[in-house]
Amino acid sequence: MSKVLIIGAGGVGNVVARKCAAVPEVFTDIMLASRTLEKCNQIARDIGGDRVKTAQVDADNVPELVNLINKFKPDMVINVALPYQDLTIMDACLETKTHYLDTANYEPRDVAKFEYSWQWAYHERFKEAGIMALLGCGFDPGVTGVFTAYAAKHYFDEMQYLDIVDCNAGDHGKAFATNFNPEINIREITQNGRYWENGKWIETKPLEIHKPIDYPEIGERESYLLYHEELESLVKNFPTLKRARFWMTFGQQYITYLNVLQEVGMTSIKPITFKGVDIVPLEFLKAVLPEPSSLGEGYKGQTSIGCQIRGLKDGRERTYYVWNNCDHTEAYRDVKAQAVSFTTGVPAMIGAMMMLTGKWTGQGVFNVEEFNPDPFMEKLSVYGLPWHEKVDEPLPVEK
Ligand code: NDP
Repeated sequence: MSKVLIIGAGGVGNVVARKCAAVPEVFTDIMLASRTLEKCNQIARDIGGDRVKTAQVDADNVPELVNLINKFKPDMVINVALPYQDLTIMDACLETKTHYLDTANYEPRDVAKFEYSWQWAYHERFKEAGIMALLGCGFDPGVTGVFTAYAAKHYFDEMQYLDIVDCNAGDHGKAFATNFNPEINIREITQNGRYWENGKWIETKPLEIHKPIDYPEIGERESYLLYHEELESLVKNFPTLKRARFWMTFGQQYITYLNVLQEVGMTSIKPITFKGVDIVPLEFLKAVLPEPSSLGEGYKGQTSIGCQIRGLKDGRERTYYVWNNCDHTEAYRDVKAQAVSFTTGVPAMIGAMMMLTGKWTGQGVFNVEEFNPDPFMEKLSVYGLPWHEKVDEPLPVEK
């Protein structure tokens, strides 16, 4: 018996709402609130059966959020708006003593930089208020942290090398589109790469390091080393890691378009004046690119995301690879969404389920790898994200 408020009615919000609605024994009452009310109403109508209430909210505005939370009185808020809104929503949760979950860490609008420091700084206040915040509970971050915790618990005495590999081998038939919010996605990719080695961060130029990696049921794809937020919490929570890297695939066409957009200044976040109005080029670009939620229909192919780990067990070298493959067409059939929204929304629902059913409890601000991975791993297969593992076989990332 619990009430949940979902904020953000984009690609991911649609999946979270549908998946929560399908589990009435946990999510008794659901409200979906976002900036554009009609998007919430559309999703609620599609789900049907009066399962989902809707509301309009500006999540940049704390008093508005507090007002909505006080009216609906949810047990927790699932934030699947944008990373810019993380702190305002956390402030509203503190004021109303409501649990919090998100899928991406805070990012200030005017600097393309993301790190956990801003949200970790809420730990004491959440603890004092007796509430819990679960950060980064999508796929990556999210399931990649749970996979790593599962490896640590069941397969290693000491984890030493971690490579997170993220492949999207899907084809949406568009010349250029991003699979999640274009603004956030392009900010992530165009910044310097970074990885952890021997106790410090090594910085690279954007997309400087790349190599082909073999993905299950997909084959080799060129994969680029990026900085990704879960690396920060994983090296903190698993201090034996000597190296931690994150790899993501991009097609040549995507990189070519991105280079052109960058060179002509369309990815800049510095405001310019156009016809007397200040606009941010990247925000304008977002407005003309397809919305991630619109890519689902006709999207073919699979994603494959996993963790490849090397370390020690009983004094001997061990390797472990755990991954999920998700099919775009099947995701669309299930929840009218492409696989990137699906693989983010399902873990967000499961994280909320862990909190509401008392499997994951705490007071303060936490990352997913701090909890028992077993009940979460069990639910992944139940709700559409089956996972596979290989032990003591050569790791594709090391070939
Ligand atoms: P979308 O752009 O499709 O959706 C974002 C939604 O948030 C939109 O409906 C938007 O409203 C709403 N929104 C934006 N600003 C506000 C505001 N101020 N007040 C209320 N609502 C607002 O993005 P996605 O669904 O693809 O991504 C959602 C989140 O998931 C992002 O934070 C993204 O970084 C994260 N993500 C995490 C992943 C992971 O694996 N951990 C992977 C993919 C995404 P409107 O419709 O009016 O624009």
